[in-house]
Amino acid sequence: MRSRLRSQGTRGAKRRLRQLTLRERRFKADVNHCIAQAAVMPGFLIGWDDLTDIRERTSVRGNKNRRRRAKWTFAEWGAFIAYKAQMVGGLAIRVDADYTSPGCPHCGCVSDKNRPGQGLTFRCKQCGLTLHADLVGARNVILRTLLIRQDWMRTGLLSTAPDGSDAEAKAKRLQRFWKLRWSPDPSSAL
Ligand SMILES: [Zn+2]
Repeated sequence: MRSRLRSQGTRGAKRRLRQLTLRERRFKADVNHCIAQAAVMPGFLIGWDDLTDIRERTSVRGNKNRRRRAKWTFAEWGAFIAYKAQMVGGLAIRVDADYTSPGCPHCGCVSDKNRPGQGLTFRCKQCGLTLHADLVGARNVILRTLLIRQDWMRTGLLSTAPDGSDAEAKAKRLQRFWKLRWSPDPSSAL
């Protein structure tokens, strides 16, 4: 609809485009609120990765998927959850998103080949772990979150917002993240 309206270029079409943009923004804010609200309970711990920085490098196939991911408002969601965390005494930790998709949480192997055809299934070419790609990403984020919380409990310092501009600090963080391993538990469906 957008591209059709754009090619029309009439005043009516422009107005309709503006309406669409506003509606989309309201929709996203609403969804962000709902997801944040669903997660909030006293003492909650949430780890999240901001995919904004890697939108250019994202390996999502197809224009439709790429656009859908690239346009999500991760920063807004982060602001919501941080604010809610303060209110109920929870903790929202933002971790680096790098390699959370191609990295195997069981053996540490990082390879684009772990995502055959860039599909929804993750299959580690080294240890053979096979799992839904979203669950793999979630495990990697959880491991990183727990490590940062551990640091925080030990030192009292919390780095909730990785700074992309500090390449050296980031490289050090990633090096520590790469050593994290998820112990396989056959009884767990997750
Ligand atoms: Zn593996």
